[in-house]
Amino acid sequence: MKTQQFFTLKEVQLNNNCPECYSNEGLELTFKQRLVENLFYKAITQDTIYEMHCNTCDTDIFPVRWTDDIEQVVDYQKRAVTPKSKSLKLKKAGWVFIIVDVLLFVIVMLFVTGVLSI
Ligand SMILES: [Zn+2]
Repeated sequence: MKTQQFFTLKEVQLNNNCPECYSNEGLELTFKQRLVENLFYKAITQDTIYEMHCNTCDTDIFPVRWTDDIEQVVDYQKRAVTPKSKSLKLKKAGWVFIIVDVLLFVIVMLFVTGVLSI
């Protein structure tokens, strides 16, 4: 029931030449940040990944194909990007879970302390 997702943090158009088609108009660097989502909550993690894609030849450019120039630009962009801070958002099911827990705890305590009896 646990799914991992990424959301796009930043997209940068690069002026570098594509290592595949040598066009200098298609390279795009995308930073993504990881989300964790399950039934109870949705949380933003500090993990970021980046991907490069050339829109001219429609190819994913993996780091092994990067030239020194591309690496320099990516390094620069990595420093410039700020990940969103960690956050946790409870979903409805998460709240219900907590409320039911608290209620159960209160009921048990009432019985234990003798306030309630059957
Ligand atoms: Zn290309």
